[in-house]
Amino acid sequence: MEVLEVLAKRFEGKELTREEALLLAETSFDELPLLLSAAIMVRLKRYGKVTTYSRKVFVPLTRLCRNRCAYCGFRARGGRPYMSIDEAMKIVKEGEKLRAKEVLVSTGDRPEEVHPEARKALNSMGYSSTVEYVEDFEERVLKETEKMMPHTNIGVLTKSEMAELKPLNASMGLMLESISERLMSSGMPHEGSPSKDPKTRLRMIREAGELKIPFTTGILVGIGETWEERIDSLMAIRKVHDEYGHVQEVIVQNFMPEPGTPMENYEPPSLIEVLKTIAIARLILGDDVAVQAPPNLNPRAYHAYLLAGINDWGGISPLTPDFVNMAYPWPSIQEVYEKTRAMGFELRERLPVYPVFIARGWISELLRERIETLVDEMGLVRRGEDAY
Ligand code: SF4
Repeated sequence: MEVLEVLAKRFEGKELTREEALLLAETSFDELPLLLSAAIMVRLKRYGKVTTYSRKVFVPLTRLCRNRCAYCGFRARGGRPYMSIDEAMKIVKEGEKLRAKEVLVSTGDRPEEVHPEARKALNSMGYSSTVEYVEDFEERVLKETEKMMPHTNIGVLTKSEMAELKPLNASMGLMLESISERLMSSGMPHEGSPSKDPKTRLRMIREAGELKIPFTTGILVGIGETWEERIDSLMAIRKVHDEYGHVQEVIVQNFMPEPGTPMENYEPPSLIEVLKTIAIARLILGDDVAVQAPPNLNPRAYHAYLLAGINDWGGISPLTPDFVNMAYPWPSIQEVYEKTRAMGFELRERLPVYPVFIARGWISELLRERIETLVDEMGLVRRGEDAY
């Protein structure tokens, strides 16, 4: 089969097979415009010109982690184990004044399992786990704000932990990152990171589907995975979404070296490789799944992602840094607005739960009123409540 035939088949609304996706991965530089045109057409058909972002604050309740990923710029090596809930609430309330709606609640993965200081700090505050601490914080977010809503991304959770947190959250997330177990072997970036086992992560993504939780996942691009592994990661996400219909967005996140990490001198993927991956993601995934790429990890050329089929920029904060990528600050929302417009698209604010799930009623009773008063008939943040 030729590339053009594969693309024509996708236009007819048929799913790509693994072999067809691998064929797209082999496209040459000369064929790239064909691939990008196909991806943008698929995106235009489903989303029109609308490109979304979520106005958020990023609250890292703890940066200790049981894993040791070689590229990680988030994990702390010491310091105070937990931010106090009062401190975290101060950020949330400042964010609300700046018209943010999403509280991205992020932590390292179960730090109390390997860091005695984390366990001690939790116990002294009356908690037995990071998850319990997160739950208390999120309850306060709902009690003390009018418009803020949590999105939890704190590593691998059990099904019962997700069920506990579900009523407090608009959506939840966990990056698959890669389906490759090879990346956990000696000398690879996930050596020493037990919760990066793809089977464990797929288990959590599947269980989120069983619980009907609108879910964000994604892949990391350029951490040593092969094209075949990248395609298999996207196919695995599509498969679990086909089963449960709960994946709201897939983040295509390019690796960028963080100073001070073991991978600080590792070459990041080229812009061409990132564009090709985004386009292939757009073509592999169902049209109902948003494709997102973060603008701060390619500050000079991120607007080109629009040509590869993205329809979302992810969460951007008017207040807090991107704690996961400290070396790469977010552009201002005004800049993203202008660049999106210059490319012929329209920037709209969305909530941390996508419109399709609001329409489907996959929202918690505790959040229903604030969500329904904030959105318009399209499920996006209504004019007057939005901000750019
Ligand atoms: S990338 Fe995430 S899981 Fe890995 S060490 Fe950093 S915080 Fe932990």
